[in-house]
Amino acid sequence: MSVSQERVSHAQLFSGPEGCGSLALALAYAQYISCENRKADDSCGVCKSCVKYEKMIHPDQHFVFPVIKDKKNSDPVSDSFIEHWREFVIRSPFFTINSWLDSIEVGNAQGLIFASEASEIIKKLSLKSFESDFKIMIIWLPEKMHQTTANKLLKLIEEPPEKTLFLLVSEESDKIIPTMLSRCQLVKIPAFSREDIEKYLTNRFGIDAKKASDLAAVANGNIVRAIGLCEHNDVYILNLGRFRNLMRNAWKRDIISVIEWSEGMAVTGREAQKNFLSFALRLLRENLMLSLCQVKDNLIFLTGEEAEFSKKFHPFINQTNVYPLADELNLAFSHIEANGNPKIIFLDLALKIARLIR
Ligand SMILES: [Zn+2]
Repeated sequence: MSVSQERVSHAQLFSGPEGCGSLALALAYAQYISCENRKADDSCGVCKSCVKYEKMIHPDQHFVFPVIKDKKNSDPVSDSFIEHWREFVIRSPFFTINSWLDSIEVGNAQGLIFASEASEIIKKLSLKSFESDFKIMIIWLPEKMHQTTANKLLKLIEEPPEKTLFLLVSEESDKIIPTMLSRCQLVKIPAFSREDIEKYLTNRFGIDAKKASDLAAVANGNIVRAIGLCEHNDVYILNLGRFRNLMRNAWKRDIISVIEWSEGMAVTGREAQKNFLSFALRLLRENLMLSLCQVKDNLIFLTGEEAEFSKKFHPFINQTNVYPLADELNLAFSHIEANGNPKIIFLDLALKIARLIR
């Protein structure tokens, strides 16, 4: 990124896995480009441009991101949600598409960059810049772009108006249409290191070094996951307890307790149920790693409490039963997602586990 030589590629694709902080980087880069007093490697943070960038109200900074349709608006554009977007991103630039959509959605709508967005973008970029040299268009998750929108933008991305910069921020760049991909300069963003995540958690949440190190290991480079683990530590302990009860009762074939367990699960709500099943899948994987005895530190991502539990649990997981167990958990997940009856789904799951665990 050769800003200092004033040679900025006019379409850049920041590409990296979920939780790698690529949106935060794109925001910082945009601010840097526009800073009136930029230093060798950082923006000044105090000039008029920086202040506006930090509040996300700079008139030359534009945003496009996935939004949802609702009853009032059948062809929505990003600007209909811009106030909410600003608040959301300023609170923390580390989030997933699901948490963004959860914050704006009422039902089960799918988040997309709709066809109507293309003309909005063309309109905005046809204006002269207001205050900075550059107009900067940040497109978060271009892989969610409607084909029509993408096609309409191709020419603009190839030959943008003067002093216009496109920053595309993608988590699944293989899903961007190739004609758009080939017009962008690729900037690969690596996942966070364990040390970076430890430091971030300690600073933001004030947790002790041991806990931070445990959670950073589990997060495996994903900062969003690390934050989730910290914020939902209670949920996480709860899930470990649920998993332990399920496995213990299934192994003892204690049918009464298994029924009680599934009734308990049935009343927790759909999100909590899905959350538990994802948790169970991860724990299963880690326990297989343990029982395969090819244990290298970087293959096992367990926190203190999990590691304690898994010491005793892993002998019950082997190459024969791990796949059918994972299949059952995945099946339960998809049934929950399809609004099945949770009491039946969890009872069925527990009984199948009882058969597979011995
Ligand atoms: Zn500045």
